[in-house]
Amino acid sequence: SLTIGIVGLPNVGKSTLFNALTKNDVLAANYPFATIEPNVGVVGVPDPRLDKLAEIFGSEKVLPATVDFVDIAGIVRGASEGEGLGNKFLANIRESDAICQVIRAFQDENVVHVDGKVSPKDDIETINTELILADLQTIEKVLPRLERESRIKKDKLPQVKAVQEAKALLEEGRTLFSAGIAQGTEAAEPLHELHLLTTKPFLYVFNVDEDELTDEAFKDEQRALVAPAEAIFLNAKLESDLVELDDDAEALELLQSVGQEEPGLATLATVGFRTLGLQTYLTAGPKESRAWTIPEGATAPEAAGVIHTDFQRGFIKAEVISFEDLVDAGSVADVRAKGKARMEGKDYVMQDGDVVEFRFNV
Ligand code: GDP
Repeated sequence: SLTIGIVGLPNVGKSTLFNALTKNDVLAANYPFATIEPNVGVVGVPDPRLDKLAEIFGSEKVLPATVDFVDIAGIVRGASEGEGLGNKFLANIRESDAICQVIRAFQDENVVHVDGKVSPKDDIETINTELILADLQTIEKVLPRLERESRIKKDKLPQVKAVQEAKALLEEGRTLFSAGIAQGTEAAEPLHELHLLTTKPFLYVFNVDEDELTDEAFKDEQRALVAPAEAIFLNAKLESDLVELDDDAEALELLQSVGQEEPGLATLATVGFRTLGLQTYLTAGPKESRAWTIPEGATAPEAAGVIHTDFQRGFIKAEVISFEDLVDAGSVADVRAKGKARMEGKDYVMQDGDVVEFRFNV
């Protein structure tokens, strides 16, 4: 499955956040036999639709979609010059499908900042500079060969041009993602085989003081720093307190005391999921109501394959009901009676919120 790598300078609250993420691990609760790597936190993506489905179908349990966060510990500054640790750090980022930067915005004299002052802007620049330098090194290694090849093979010219353009952007100090050359887009296609770091989608977690959680002017400033990447604001210490509370009412009270409606981890899971380009479809029955993860644009047979490869191989059709229609009608039988249950074939592109039952041969 796709993963989000968490990086940040020392003392910004990464471990605090990551501990909260692992305590919140949904695998432990729902899949008792799953093996969990110590540096991976698997977090549920909150989805109120599942509770509604469970109500309609009388489901015994609810299984949300999940996002995997990987703690990429270790150095940041100097990584691109690095032997050993630096290489490992960059290799771990290369294996991630998105990069989540934890940025310190909280003030606390007792927690030393590596550069002596709290400055989100400078910290973002420090981290991004390492990633940009690493990409420039990659490009400098392959560009001369590509240029040579393109003199003979003219079909290589568009790739050479794309790599040269990427180089120019990186030299300006920009990440390719921020320049609109994001992994998965057509613009990034000619760069694919270079496995560049900064084409990966970025997201930013600002670890803020509690009073900044509701400071819209402050938050807008930080959002502007990182756009088009998304920004999430949370207080890592508060998050670690929240996951310790068993009582939902107490947790809600704590959240409301700082002007929040949901835990920052929940927001992080939702934004992380979207940043990875993922969406869900839903299945429901008396045993469970469940969200299944598919890439945006997946077809019905591909979606069936997420449940079981046999479902994809033997796919006949899918009965699709929109979540809203189901809630309006109150039951599958009533949706069918209203003629709003659709039979979709193998070319159907799944829509977010589809409630599905697959028909297949085995
Ligand atoms: P890491 O080096 O990035 O993993 O940072 P840690 O999670 O170890 O945190 C470094 C120090 O900052 C610890 O003493 C934490 O208790 C403290 N810390 C983490 N998050 C917050 C926060 O939101 N507010 C304050 N005041 N301190 C925090």
